[in-house]
Amino acid sequence: MFLHDSLSNRLKKIIKTKKVIKLFVCGPTVYDSMHIGHARTYIFFDTLVRFLRSQNYKIEYLQNITDIDDKIIERAQKLKINPLKFAVAQTKDYKTISKKLNIISVDKYVNASSVISIIINQIKRLIDKGYAYETKNGVYFRVRKFKFYGELSGQDLEALRSGYRIELDKAKEDVFDFALWKKTKDNQAISWPSPWGSGRPGWHIEDTAISEKYFGLQYDLHGGGVDLKFPHHEAEIAQAESLSGKKPFVKIWLHTGFLTFNNEKMSKSLKNFITVKDFLTKYNADVLRFIVLSSSYRSSLSWNESLINQSIASLLSIKSFLVYLKYKNDKGDINKKIISSINSFNKNFTSNLNDDMNTPKTIASIFEFINNIESIKNINKKSAKAIEEAIRNSLNILGIKMKINRVPKNIKDLIDKREVLRIVKDFNKADKIRKEIEALNFRLDDTDQGPILTHNNFING
Ligand code: AMP
Repeated sequence: MFLHDSLSNRLKKIIKTKKVIKLFVCGPTVYDSMHIGHARTYIFFDTLVRFLRSQNYKIEYLQNITDIDDKIIERAQKLKINPLKFAVAQTKDYKTISKKLNIISVDKYVNASSVISIIINQIKRLIDKGYAYETKNGVYFRVRKFKFYGELSGQDLEALRSGYRIELDKAKEDVFDFALWKKTKDNQAISWPSPWGSGRPGWHIEDTAISEKYFGLQYDLHGGGVDLKFPHHEAEIAQAESLSGKKPFVKIWLHTGFLTFNNEKMSKSLKNFITVKDFLTKYNADVLRFIVLSSSYRSSLSWNESLINQSIASLLSIKSFLVYLKYKNDKGDINKKIISSINSFNKNFTSNLNDDMNTPKTIASIFEFINNIESIKNINKKSAKAIEEAIRNSLNILGIKMKINRVPKNIKDLIDKREVLRIVKDFNKADKIRKEIEALNFRLDDTDQGPILTHNNFING
């Protein structure tokens, strides 16, 4: 499989060996509810891991939870609750929502607050090696000493430096030096004792400490949204490689593009977000996964309402095909044409995902397959089962549940009534019943197996 590495800007091969592939994805800062922008990133990584596991790669997927952060402290203080307790409640909410989105592939969530002693130890080592220094405000990483700083994001630091006229912290040696430890002055803010007085860690070192504890200072894959390239991931590289004295920190850097709204990144600070919770009150999780996976993970995804309707229409047509297959009851063995169609579908599906997770092409291959099958006559029960299995396997990798429930009796009765009206050629009344059925959120297809009903459970209510 090939994945695009943001550092080298090249496709890199992932080799299948007995060794476990270690994936670290930056989790959320838990101060507010997850929005659909976050969901874009986490749905992508969940799908990547589902796919790798389906191909028998061994993979360990870790997500950190930033439970120490100025925004968390601020929000908790407003609510007059302990910041760590507030973060615990927000983390629980995050995990519940993730599960609702069928994000189930994370092996371990690790809180930053659980690695404070490692953070302090790392900072001491960085000071000893000359990569960090103490000021009256905290301990800072000396960016000028790490010559690769800026490489991941392709930044010309000299040009950027001249743009920074106002230096906020005069005690810092350089504008780009970042905090490893922040000394706390107020008693209310959360703090831990350290050789530099009581304080709390900087954001970047939290992840390096978690990395060292669980994966070591060199591992395989690290990912997050593209906004994390600079300074967060840049800082992680600087910290880890300065600590270990080895390169590279990670073999492949993966970055997802933004989900945007009116050409701006959807974000909490811009207040232009739709929470996943709100989305899920109206639509089913399959809809969001389908929208996310219909676009390439590295490009930005411009959000608009029409994406929802398009996605529902597409999901409904796959679902109605699956329902249709259930009506096939003829005996006999699987037709050879069907076997070869299934084989080429499976091959295309896998090769599209092997190609840097080309999910749009993968989704298109499901429709091509359905079209292909529809052109084949006389599908018997065994063939129908094999076709259904192939589609279900692929949907499973995409994390799309496509639940099919029994049709309720009142709708079945309406169908029977419509059939009678059609037999007596009362098409006006039959059409009225069709509209009645559709208004109840069912799609009706007249097929060679008779009328087929598909519940549009992608919309709630
Ligand atoms: P945060 O809680 O802001 O640290 O974000 C958690 C993760 O979600 C990071 O990997 C972000 O890059 C990602 N993320 C946040 N907003 C968006 C967005 N609008 N589109 C895609 N990813 C996002």
